[in-house]
Amino acid sequence: METLLQIIGFGPAALGLFIAADRNGRLQALLDGGVQVHERSASFSQWECMAYAIEANSPIADFLRGIRSDGAFAQCLRQPRVQHWLQHPEQVVSLVEVSAFLRQLAQVILDLCRDQPNAAIHFAHPVASVRSAVSGFSVHGDWGSSHSRYLVLACGARVRDLRPQEGAATTASLCSDRVLRGQADPQLLQALEQGLQLLVLGGSHSAFSVVGYLLERFAGRLPVGAIQVLCRQRPALWSACAGVAPPLQARDLIDEESGEVNRFCGLRGAARDTLLQIEAGTWACVELHIGSADPRPWLSRGALLINATGYRPRVPGLLNAAGVSLTLDQRDGNLCKHPRTHELMVGGQALPGLFGTGLGYADRRGATLEVGVNFFHGRCAGNILHAVL
Ligand SMILES: Cc1cc2nc3c(=O)[nH]c(=O)nc-3n(C[C@H](O)[C@H](O)[C@H](O)COP(=O)(O)OP(=O)(O)OC[C@H]3O[C@@H](n4cnc5c(N)ncnc54)[C@H](O)[C@@H]3O)c2cc1C
Repeated sequence: METLLQIIGFGPAALGLFIAADRNGRLQALLDGGVQVHERSASFSQWECMAYAIEANSPIADFLRGIRSDGAFAQCLRQPRVQHWLQHPEQVVSLVEVSAFLRQLAQVILDLCRDQPNAAIHFAHPVASVRSAVSGFSVHGDWGSSHSRYLVLACGARVRDLRPQEGAATTASLCSDRVLRGQADPQLLQALEQGLQLLVLGGSHSAFSVVGYLLERFAGRLPVGAIQVLCRQRPALWSACAGVAPPLQARDLIDEESGEVNRFCGLRGAARDTLLQIEAGTWACVELHIGSADPRPWLSRGALLINATGYRPRVPGLLNAAGVSLTLDQRDGNLCKHPRTHELMVGGQALPGLFGTGLGYADRRGATLEVGVNFFHGRCAGNILHAVL
C-alpha cells in the first residue's frame, strides 16, 4: 500500500499535525492512510524540543487550546498540573515545563502509531535528500529510502550563520540556542572570570532572552558593561489590544484577527520586560547599542560573541525527477508558500504535494509570519491536512 504522507522532523510542529488531525476528527484517517515520520535524533529519550531555561513567550493557554479534551490526547490534559494550567490559562510557565508536556503528547503519538500497521515514527532517520516526482516524494538517508504521495517538512530552523563582517571567522562564538539550553555556562563563566565582555548580537526574542538568562544565571558576577547588546534597530514590542493602546510606532503592525500589536513579530513576556528594563537603566551591567551591528571593535578586545541574529530553515537537499537540484523560494528567513494551496514553492510555482510547518516554515499573514505557538493551534496544520486527506 502506498504511504500517504511522510513528515521530516518530530518536533513541536510535527506534533501539531497529529493534534490538528485529532481536533478535526481525522486522526484515524491519517493513520490509516499511512504516515511515516523521520526524526534524526537517535531515540525518543533524546527528545528535548523547546527545552530552553526561560519563560514561554505567551500564556500556557496557547499550548493547550488546540488539544481536544475528548480526543486522543485527553489523558495528557487530565494530570493535576495541566488541570491547574487549564484553570489559570493566563499563566506563563517555563519552556522546560512546556517541553515536558509536549513530550507527553509525543509519547501518545508514539503509542498510537505502534498499534497501526501503516504508521510509524522512525528515530535515527536523518533525511539527507528528497527526490520529487509526479507520483510523490522519495526520502533518502543513510538508513535507506521511502516513498509517499505527500511530504511535510517540519525540520525546524537553526541559528543563522554569521557573515565575515559580523565576526564569523575571527573568533569563537556561541549561538543563542546553546546558551538558552544551559549548555554554555562553563564557557560564559570562564569569559567573565577573565574579565571579558559578553557581546550579544541581534535584536530577536532570543537575544533578549539570552540577556535575561545571563542576568539571572550570573547575578553578582556581572560588572558594569559586562553585557553589550548590538541591534540594528529597536525591536518592536508586542502588546495586547485590551487597556490603553500604546502609541503606535511607524513599523508597528496590528493583527486584524486579534487586534494585538506586533502579534507575531514583537518581543513578548520576559524578553520584552528585559528590553524595557535595560532602557530604563535598571541594569548597569548591560549596555544597549541600537543602530550598530558591527561587533569588531568589541571582538578586537576579546569579547565573547553570542549569535542571536535569528534563524534559517533547515532544508534537506531537494532534487527533481531528473536529479536536478531545486531551491525552495525563501523570504525573510522563511520558506514561501502558495497563497491558495499552501504548498512550498520553487521559482514562484507551487511544488505539488510538498508542504512545510514550524519554525522556518511559518505561514505568512499580511506583513508578518505566524511563528511560534501557532503551530499547535493555528491554521497551518489544518491547511496541510485539508489538502492531504
Ligand atoms: C529562545 C527561544 C524561545 C522560544 N520561545 C517560544 C515560545 O515561548 N513559544 C513557542 O511556541 N515557541 C517558542 N520558540 C520557538 C520554538 O522553538 C518553536 O515554536 C518550536 O521549537 C518549533 O518547532 P519545530 O518543530 O518547527 O522545530 P524544532 O523544534 O527544531 O524541531 C524540528 C525537528 O526536526 C528534526 N530534524 C531536523 N532536520 C532533520 C532531518 N534532516 N531529518 C530528520 N529530522 C530532522 C530535529 O531533530 C527536530 O526534532 C522559541 C524558540 C527559541 C529559540
